[in-house]
Amino acid sequence: MGIIKTNLLWIQAGSCSGDTMSLLCADKPSWPELVAQHNINVLWQPSLSTRSFNELLTDIDLILSDQLELNILCIEGSLALGPNNTGMFDTLDSKPKAFIVKELAQKADYVVAVGTCAAFGGIPAAPPNPTECTGMQSFQGSDDGLLPMDWRSNKGLPVINISGCPTHPNTIMQTIIALTQGYPLPLNDMQQPKAHYSTLVHQGCSRNEYHEYDIEEDKFGEAGCLFYNLGCQGPYTTATCNTELWNNRSSKTREGVPCLGCVSPDFPRNAPLFTTEKVGDIPVALPLGVSRPRYMAYKGLAKDAAPIRIIERKMKP
Ligand code: SF4
Repeated sequence: MGIIKTNLLWIQAGSCSGDTMSLLCADKPSWPELVAQHNINVLWQPSLSTRSFNELLTDIDLILSDQLELNILCIEGSLALGPNNTGMFDTLDSKPKAFIVKELAQKADYVVAVGTCAAFGGIPAAPPNPTECTGMQSFQGSDDGLLPMDWRSNKGLPVINISGCPTHPNTIMQTIIALTQGYPLPLNDMQQPKAHYSTLVHQGCSRNEYHEYDIEEDKFGEAGCLFYNLGCQGPYTTATCNTELWNNRSSKTREGVPCLGCVSPDFPRNAPLFTTEKVGDIPVALPLGVSRPRYMAYKGLAKDAAPIRIIERKMKP
């Protein structure tokens, strides 16, 4: 009996190609290793495929006429429905790409939304959203995605949202491996794999001790925490950025940039990205699970208890 191959089709919609760029950085495994080790037949990947555009069009016809099996459909980028719900702002072979994607999804064993744009609409769908962009099965965390909320793939799963701007390469790779190998892939209520979306960015941050003692910065390039003044979303964003470092060495907060919450359905939030919204002296959004009265009581005490080495920023993040 021959080795069973997994047919994977990667379609790029309204996108900056960031998730594909992220994919190029993958090393656990790399893309060539993934394809070889897991018997993946890449029907098309816009930057990594060696096949021609005409072959892509032929394959789409074969899939839609049930002559070619589609195991994994990866969508990168936001789905443009405009103008006036015609989808003609983004076309493939002069046809609305969003509607081709919708038809392909009906044939797929699994559909993976790679990146926040594909999962929730992302930057192209931010107000005023002139191209009428949306995500595969969700628009900014609510319904109004390309597919209805009760839609399920051939294997019974909703769209698997591996959001991120871009998505971490290990998350892309490990999700594809789980699907090809038939490993369990439990999802959270945002349809994200729990394995990659359960740890807070804050939990692995090297500035944590500064946060603990309320040593907060109001300008970039300093050593302290970025939560209180600079809009860091780390305490309520579940992603692996500080537990699986980018390029095995870094993350936004390690480089002194606040977490922007880019995996979240409401990214980019409709507010200044580098400012913490406050009522009086207290941030509007507190770290996940923290009660407001306790936070206020703790905050005054924490700074008084801070060790000199922390106050003087002698500990590098
Ligand atoms: S910089 Fe952000 S992620 Fe790091 S400790 Fe402060 S709030 Fe948490």
